[in-house]
Amino acid sequence: SYRKGGYHAVRVADTFAGGRYIAQRKLGWGQFSTVWLAYDSQTAKYVALKIQKSAPEFAQSAIYEIEVVSALTKHDPENKKCVIQLVDHFKHTGPNGQHFCMVFELLGDSILQLIKYNRYKGLPLNKVRDICRCILTALDYLHRQLGIIHTDLKPENILLVSTINPSNDPNQSKMVPIVSKPEGSMNNNGGCVANGIEKKLKQRARQAVARIYARRASLGGVRPVTKGDRCLDGIDFRCKVVDFGNACWANRPNADEIQTRQYRAPEVILQSGYTFSADMWSFACTAFELATGETMFAPKTGQSFSEDEDHLALMMEILGKIPRKIATGGLRSKDYFDRYGDLKRIRRLKHVPLARLLTEKFKFSVNDACDFAGFLIPVLDFAPEKRPTAGQCLQHAWLNKSSESSVQKLDSEMSKLQIK
Ligand code: ATP
Ligand code: MG
Ligand code: MG
Repeated sequence: SYRKGGYHAVRVADTFAGGRYIAQRKLGWGQFSTVWLAYDSQTAKYVALKIQKSAPEFAQSAIYEIEVVSALTKHDPENKKCVIQLVDHFKHTGPNGQHFCMVFELLGDSILQLIKYNRYKGLPLNKVRDICRCILTALDYLHRQLGIIHTDLKPENILLVSTINPSNDPNQSKMVPIVSKPEGSMNNNGGCVANGIEKKLKQRARQAVARIYARRASLGGVRPVTKGDRCLDGIDFRCKVVDFGNACWANRPNADEIQTRQYRAPEVILQSGYTFSADMWSFACTAFELATGETMFAPKTGQSFSEDEDHLALMMEILGKIPRKIATGGLRSKDYFDRYGDLKRIRRLKHVPLARLLTEKFKFSVNDACDFAGFLIPVLDFAPEKRPTAGQCLQHAWLNKSSESSVQKLDSEMSKLQIK
């Protein structure tokens, strides 16, 4: 992919925008871009520099993403809406062409990484609540205030708020930026080809990473957990929604097929038209995954049925039958359903209601399972217009309850009774 029209190869200490940003190390990558930790010499802060591939289709999508995130940033001057903030954007010309670059505030690990660090066991419910509140705040802002549908909500696109910026954490200003180019050639991962300087640089990077993890562990970030580790205790999670490369204004949708498979809403599969409520479906799937460590729906192609049909079957096993009118009302309905609203190729479904799935497979207490299912089920309504909005979800009792256990709850109720 590092060829004409593709990624721009970056070396540690490369500079951008006339010397303002200095590349430090690679943070991540996607289908469209590589993302680098960079030092902003103008503000003395660390930022995330997203460098888009250069071919016209990628440039077009960058222009679009810049338009969306500029709007997000402009209407959230107090930075309270749990969406990524754009700092700057510019074009950078390299051997592979001209690349659109976006500079974002620096964030930390994704909540997918958080689930991995927790060994796919699911996070404690009070953490799930913290994260849900942030996502819903973002969605309420996007939907109600800006009229934007994210269309790709999933754990990978929700990042924890980082503590490694001097602005967030005064102690971190000690992290020394790399400003000069080491001698010798480097590969585009930011690693040097063997020479003396490489060793030093790698050592320095390792120390920096170790420092970051240590700080994060104590200041609200995460680190990989070991057995019996309770490192998530006492940490207050804040996170933000990112990756607006596929977002669209509801009044000008730009694709029929949206969303990553596991988080895709039924109306998208059936092609019955979608709006903001499609994000709510993905939100519910994300919340389930946070709480259990497993994706809610993991459809597979079978010998006699498609991935789409399996997906619809899995939905009905947990949520009950899709009402006939909805099942048969989409442009693609005939591919999957007969005229009675039954799947054509998957005839036998095993109905396991959500609350039972949570107690039996994921060992939730009956109370926790019923409460959590009570929160999710309305959001997973097959009728998109019946799903609660993000604003309505924020008012739900489940989000606003304390994290006391049912035993504690019983105790406190007993003591109240005795006082009376
Ligand atoms: P996709 O193929 O998912 O559309 P993309 O090319 O649009 O990817 P992003 O998803 O925006 O790129 O970013 C790629 C990765 O870079 C993210 O998954 C994340 O690990 C990292 N990243 C992105 N933005 C930030 C940020 N602001 N702070 C820290 N890391 C970030
Ligand atoms: Mg992404
Ligand atoms: Mg993207």
